[in-house]
Amino acid sequence: MTLRRGALVGCGFFARNHLNAWGELADRAKIVAVCDVDGEKAAAAAADFGVPAFYTDFEKMLATEKPDFVDIVTTAPSHRALVEACARHGVAAIVQKPLAPDWEDCRALVSAMDRAGRPLMVHENFRFQAPLLRAAEIARSGVLGEPTWGRFAFRTGYDIYKGQPYLAEVERFVLLDIGVHVLDVARVFMGEATTVYCLDQAIKQGIKGEDQATVMMRHANGAVSVSECSYASRQSPDLFPQTLIHFEGTKGSIRVEADCRLVVTSPDGNFTEIAAPKPLSWGGEPWLLIQDSVVSTQRHWLDSLDANSAPATSGHDNLNTFALVEAAYKSIETGGPVTPETFE
Ligand code: NAD
Repeated sequence: MTLRRGALVGCGFFARNHLNAWGELADRAKIVAVCDVDGEKAAAAAADFGVPAFYTDFEKMLATEKPDFVDIVTTAPSHRALVEACARHGVAAIVQKPLAPDWEDCRALVSAMDRAGRPLMVHENFRFQAPLLRAAEIARSGVLGEPTWGRFAFRTGYDIYKGQPYLAEVERFVLLDIGVHVLDVARVFMGEATTVYCLDQAIKQGIKGEDQATVMMRHANGAVSVSECSYASRQSPDLFPQTLIHFEGTKGSIRVEADCRLVVTSPDGNFTEIAAPKPLSWGGEPWLLIQDSVVSTQRHWLDSLDANSAPATSGHDNLNTFALVEAAYKSIETGGPVTPETFE
């Protein structure tokens, strides 16, 4: 098996999960360098994770290290410039969600990697969470029939601003931060959408963007879904960071309930099972579900590089998710249903 040389850029809050997860995949990839514009953060990440080199200049890291791939864990405003630099250096890249702050940057960075002929994957890790992977496997087996209706819900009051204070400052907030995940999961179960209608709410005082969004969609086969995104739900117990699902097909249904419990109704029989992530030495609640999905996402990236095949959440695939976000914002603006753009 090829041992790939990776370089990581963005050594902030979430990068620790990436670096720990690369440790789980140490027989397949080694992070040879890290970079952050903040030299102290880069140095700390290198020291804490035994990475041999650190940089504050991304292009210098690419030119010096010549990595096989780059893992981009910066926030969205920097993604276009960083991916375009990867394209110039002919380096494959996996980039955190949201792909970019807006549609123009998303299209530009996907095109840049197309022109360079290098693979691009979006770190869209929710569909790689253990219960959602298992539920999708059951739905895809055909045992539940064709999709007819779905509900995809991420509702929490967890203090996300503590670890990610920048979220209080963004004008396009919940749809771009958690909506990309929830709408991506909706696509996995329901297929592409033909109509998007969205209502937003701003509940918390002192933040710039919307912290609740309810998105209703019609899908290509006529099925209907509701995606709920909320960072303003006061509830006990708080299920952060779980996504609850209710999927109905022509032959049966599946619910993903609290604590990774799957409830399946099918012509072959009804059953429940727990599809929980395994413990990780570096993981901890409430983040384990996410941390485990980071390992699975990075494993899928290495699998796709090995197989020379497009990752499930390639840049192109993710344009279809981002198109739903753009359509939802347009719907909020116009007050009516919107037809999203779709891509191959
Ligand atoms: P953060 O602000 O804590 O860290 C980002 C780091 O990138 C900072 O240290 C910053 O100095 C550095 N940086 C910014 N631009 C740079 C550049 N051009 N070159 C080098 N370094 C640069 O942000 P975070 O909370 O770690 O989030 C990072 C990304 O991870 C975001 O896109 C966020 O949406 C995503 N995220 C994903 C999940 C998930 O479950 N998928 C969870 C949390 C965060």
